[in-house]
Amino acid sequence: MESWNTPLPARLPVQPDRLKLYDTASQSVRHPGNLAEASLYVCGITPYDATHLGHANTYVTFDLLSRYWRACGLPVTYVQNVTDVDDPLLERATATGVDWRDLAAEQTELFRSDMEALNVLAPDHYVGATETVDWVVASVEALVANGTAYPVPGAGSEPDGDIYFSIDAAQEATHWTLGSVGRHSAEEMATVFPERGGDPDRPGKRHPLDPLLWRVARPGEPTWEGRSLGTGRPGWHIECSAIARRLLPAPFTVQGGGSDLRFPHHEFSAAHATAADGQPLAQAFVHAGMVGLDGEKMSKSLGNLVLVSRLRSQGVEPVAIRTALLSNHYRDDWDWTPELMTRSMDRVARWRRALELQEPGDGAALLAAAHRALSDDLDAPAALAQVDRWADEALARDDRNPAGLGPDGASGTQAADVDPSSPDVRAAVNGLLGLTL
Ligand code: ZN
Repeated sequence: MESWNTPLPARLPVQPDRLKLYDTASQSVRHPGNLAEASLYVCGITPYDATHLGHANTYVTFDLLSRYWRACGLPVTYVQNVTDVDDPLLERATATGVDWRDLAAEQTELFRSDMEALNVLAPDHYVGATETVDWVVASVEALVANGTAYPVPGAGSEPDGDIYFSIDAAQEATHWTLGSVGRHSAEEMATVFPERGGDPDRPGKRHPLDPLLWRVARPGEPTWEGRSLGTGRPGWHIECSAIARRLLPAPFTVQGGGSDLRFPHHEFSAAHATAADGQPLAQAFVHAGMVGLDGEKMSKSLGNLVLVSRLRSQGVEPVAIRTALLSNHYRDDWDWTPELMTRSMDRVARWRRALELQEPGDGAALLAAAHRALSDDLDAPAALAQVDRWADEALARDDRNPAGLGPDGASGTQAADVDPSSPDVRAAVNGLLGLTL
C-alpha cells in the first residue's frame, strides 16, 4: 500500500557505523553484525484506533535507528506492515457498525499523517496483510510439508482444518527453542499468551502455546483463497514472517517493535521463518519500552490513550512531541505527563533562540557528539543533552558579546578553517534526530 512522504535527509558527514544495540534474544549490547548495508523490519499497527504515544514512541525509536544508519552512508531497506485484517479490527468494526475495510483505510491514513507530522522517514515497503495473503499461504504450505504445521480437527463451534504451528516439531527440527527470542520464562509465556490473542485451551492442539497459522473460513468473516489450506485468513505471526522473507535478506539486520511484541509475536515470527529455511529471522531483536499514563500502560482496552492527532489538533507542534519521546531512553518504560510536554516545548523554543547565534563549525561538532551518543544503544537523551549543551554555549556567547563583535572589534567568527560542506545545526539536528527546528 501507499507509504507516507517524509523527505530523506542529506547524507551527513559522520563517523562510521559503530552502533551497539541491546538484542533481546542474546540479552547483550552488541553490534548487530551488518556490514555494507542494513535491513529493518518493524511491526506495524492494527488499524482500529488512531496513533497513541506508545505507537509513536516505537516508530520514532526505529526512525532514529534508520537515520543513524543513513547518516553513516549505509543503504537501508526498511519494511513495515499493516495488520489490516485481524480479530481486534473486525471486532471494532462490528461494534461500531462500520465496514472493516473502511475502518482500516481511515485509521491507516490517520497513522500515515501522524508519522509524516512526526518526521518519521517512510518505510521502503509499506505492506498490508491483505495484499500478501498469497505469500502467507505459500509459507504455511511449506511448514505443513516439512511437518512443523498441522491441521486441528473441528470441535464445538470451531470448524475443521485451522492450521497451527507445532512448537515441539520446530524445536526438534531447528536451533530455535521456545523462549529463545523473546526471553520470557515459561510462566510468563503461559500468562501473556491468552492476553495477546492466543488460545491455549483450543481442543486438538498439540501444545497449549502452539500459535495459529491459518484460520479457515467462518460465516461473516473475510476470507481469501488458500489453495491446499482451503479458504480462510492468515494468523498474525506468519504474516510478518512471510513479508520479511519476501522483501529482506535472511537473516535481516534488526527486527523491531514494542516490548509487548516479544512474546508471542516476535518469538513465533522468528520460529516460523527458522522452521521454513533454517536461518534466524534477524540478527538482532530490538524492543522499545511502553509509554504509560498515571502508572498504567497506555492501551485501547484501558481507555487511557493520548493520541498524537489530538495533541496536534490542540496546537502542539509535532517537533515538541518528538522531543518529549526522545528525552526518554527507548528501552525504558515511562509515564507521559503534561509537564513533560511543557518542558519539551520550552526546550525547542530555547534551541530555536540559540540557532540565531550559531557559529561556523557548530553543526559539525554537534553532529559528531550526537552521533557518538546514539552509537551507545541509541542513547537519545544523551544526544538531546548535547543539543542543550550547544544551546547553552551559543546563548552564553551572546550574553558575553551582545553586539556580536570579536575582542578586537572585528565582526563575527573566523570561518576560514570550517569545511563549507559541513551541515549547520539545523541540518544536523533534523537529519540525525529528526527534529525540525
Ligand atoms: Zn510483526
